[in-house]
Amino acid sequence: MDANGSYPPAQTVDDFVANLAAVRARIDAAAARAGRNGSDVRLLPVSKTVPQERLRLAVEAGCSQLGENKVQEAVRKHGEMSDVAVDWVIIGHLQRNKARDVAAFATEFQALDSLRIAEALERRLQSAGRGIDVYVQVNTSAEEQKYGLDPEGVPGVLAELAHFDSLRVRGLMTLALFTDDTARVRECFRVLRGVRDRARETDPDLIGPGELSMGMSGDFEAAVEEGADVVRVGQAIFGARATPDSDYWPGLA
Ligand SMILES: *Cc1c(COP(=O)(O)O)cnc(C)c1O
Repeated sequence: MDANGSYPPAQTVDDFVANLAAVRARIDAAAARAGRNGSDVRLLPVSKTVPQERLRLAVEAGCSQLGENKVQEAVRKHGEMSDVAVDWVIIGHLQRNKARDVAAFATEFQALDSLRIAEALERRLQSAGRGIDVYVQVNTSAEEQKYGLDPEGVPGVLAELAHFDSLRVRGLMTLALFTDDTARVRECFRVLRGVRDRARETDPDLIGPGELSMGMSGDFEAAVEEGADVVRVGQAIFGARATPDSDYWPGLA
């Protein structure tokens, strides 16, 4: 991070190697504070808005997965980089008419927030003869954001998802509140963990490994301390984004 609190853009393989190592060291330190092993935490690099030329450098530096919020952008990059061995993960809200695109190439979908979308994905995956890992997105901050199931709605959806053979449930995903108030951010992470723990008590088979995908550049250390199994980190690896976050999340100023 520079003096203005923003991350300079990574422009070379060495930049990416350094940024990945720095993020990994912060994950390891946060895990150690919580008595956890940092190597149990998956770092998912989030590459939205970053052009393919720089994504190639990131892959060369060791990124084997790339997370994209918007399906159209992911489809384009997947096409541009068909010669590169990398897995594509969709982490943003999906519209039903994009289910076919996701089913065609994504290995993982982290923003499953309705049975309608699950049905559309299942149908497309069946015809493509593919399966995909999914995380159910939970709205852990109540009023502030629109996407994600309410915590109370999660058990019912998990029970239904058991019937969708092409969707492999890996756990739950959330976006914490966008605020500098770290106590409120942590509370979101704890809500997600509580939903996971209750789901496990009710029927452990329904939630698979029961992983928690939570934490981004601004809050991944707190997320790891609160039990994150996957952190989704963009700017701390690729550099600050020019586009405002309101392009990606409803309800932000
Ligand atoms: C962009 C994005 C991230 C990563 O945000 P950074 O601030 O770049 O780390 C994480 N999760 C989702 C759903 C995103 O869209």
